[in-house]
Amino acid sequence: MASSDSSRDFEETRLLYRCPCGVQLVIDKNFGGTCDQCGRVVTAEKLGLELSATMALPEDATIRSYSETVCNDDSFDVVGVDPLIGQSFEHFEIIDRLGRGGMGYVYRAVDKSLQRYVAVKVLRSGVSWTDQTSSDREVEVLLQEAVSQARVSHPNVVTIYFVGRQEGEPFLAMELVKGKPLSDLLRTQNLSYRQLVSYGLQVARALQFAHRLDIIHGDIKPSNLLVQENGIVKLSDFGMARRESHAGVAAFGGTPNYLAPELIGGGKTTLSSDIYALGVTLYEMTFGHLPVKLKGKTPAQWTEEHNAVSIDFPQPWPEHLPEKWHSVLRRILQKDPAKRYSNYNELVSDLENVEALSSIRAKTVPRLLAGLIDFMSVLLVAASIQFLLFDVLKLRDQTDNLAIVLLVSLADMLPLVFYSLSVFLFRQSIGRNLLYLRVVNRYGLKPPGRVMLARSFVRMGFVWLLVSSMVFDVEGFVWPQAVRTLLAGFAAALLLTQITVLTFSKKKQTLQDWIYRTNVVLDT
Ligand code: ADP
Ligand code: MG
Repeated sequence: MASSDSSRDFEETRLLYRCPCGVQLVIDKNFGGTCDQCGRVVTAEKLGLELSATMALPEDATIRSYSETVCNDDSFDVVGVDPLIGQSFEHFEIIDRLGRGGMGYVYRAVDKSLQRYVAVKVLRSGVSWTDQTSSDREVEVLLQEAVSQARVSHPNVVTIYFVGRQEGEPFLAMELVKGKPLSDLLRTQNLSYRQLVSYGLQVARALQFAHRLDIIHGDIKPSNLLVQENGIVKLSDFGMARRESHAGVAAFGGTPNYLAPELIGGGKTTLSSDIYALGVTLYEMTFGHLPVKLKGKTPAQWTEEHNAVSIDFPQPWPEHLPEKWHSVLRRILQKDPAKRYSNYNELVSDLENVEALSSIRAKTVPRLLAGLIDFMSVLLVAASIQFLLFDVLKLRDQTDNLAIVLLVSLADMLPLVFYSLSVFLFRQSIGRNLLYLRVVNRYGLKPPGRVMLARSFVRMGFVWLLVSSMVFDVEGFVWPQAVRTLLAGFAAALLLTQITVLTFSKKKQTLQDWIYRTNVVLDT
């Protein structure tokens, strides 16, 4: 009995670790270990850090030992100059190293046949200063990556050009992305709300496209998202990808901190677990830290941690983020997959709804022109109504019927009511539409209809006042002169205030922008 217990203890703390020098060694998760070949010391703390890197987990998650395939530190570079630099892989000549992940190294290379730069990914153990060759499993993963990724021809997915073998070791050549992994960006800067939604949407669209081809990525995380300088995000590293319809067959894996709770508990990689991993990534982009940072060393401990903590959202909700973003994050990070987004269509549409519009502020002249067009169209409709009532229906003379007098008087208000109603419903006006302008709130989002409605009364305030001053201007029923003058005076003052505010405001804001915290931007 005692001996079986102690062998289980040993199983639970034992870890197969691959040292940067290429040797695999068994070390204790709690006490670390030392590499026999290069003398490198691996501490328990460092193993904890490495939980943010991709690892292959055994099919049965309850087995507490797993094969760690990662090392994240730079000791690799101390070991020696990379012998692959200068070598040719088929017609690709390796120039320098771009990065590395759980499975391999990625190099910049020249494609000598097409005379262009490409990225070449080589399995970690395929690097020739160790005698070790890549395991069948690793080769299979790289080939699977090539096949899956090559199928997904999408602007937000790194394009695969070639897969080949060099001295028996497979490698793949792909589009060279001029940019940085999102993980690097997150380390050095805070993303704006506009950036994070734009990145999230690009990745969601790429995953949506892949899913239509039955492909699940399986390892969504910032280091697998390459961000170009022009803001375009490219999804890479389909090393954990699988066909959804075959998901039960392959062993699952991924990156612990990004694994959906049901996966850690032994579930299959699904559309829903990819959505969760994207959720973790979005949370990290928003707040700069992980929603649940796993500290344990085994899947069982991670499950306990997930059960013990609920995801924290800042209280009060930060000013610079819309409330709607809160509900998107909460839904995407649900621990119960049934409560998460169940498909990409819903997620993409929600992301589109919270996507910030352009941030290019409209200039004063187009704004004044848009205002003028809206004003003129209101006047034109008012004049037509007047024409219809007075000249066609000849109602002007029926001054003895009070109901008709009132109707005729209020008819001028109708176009204004229509204007406000259309702004409420479409959140856009004719003038702004013609000049490609859009009203946005402080997050760059379309404001809610009620804000647009209230705003429309201020924008057209002077017309309302002007028209009011003329209402009842029908024979036998007139405002007292003083009221008319007052209303007209207010109208002129309001118009003047608006023009002055718009002309001199540093942020090119109008009175209504200032009151409702809105802005007008170019609709790109
Ligand atoms: P792994 O499967 O080992 O995790 P990745 O495909 O994620 O490998 O690549 C590891 C790193 O290499 C990335 O984080 C990135 O820095 C760099 N990299 C990968 N692919 C490209 C590419 N197509 N263009 C430029 N850099 C790349
Ligand atoms: Mg990777």
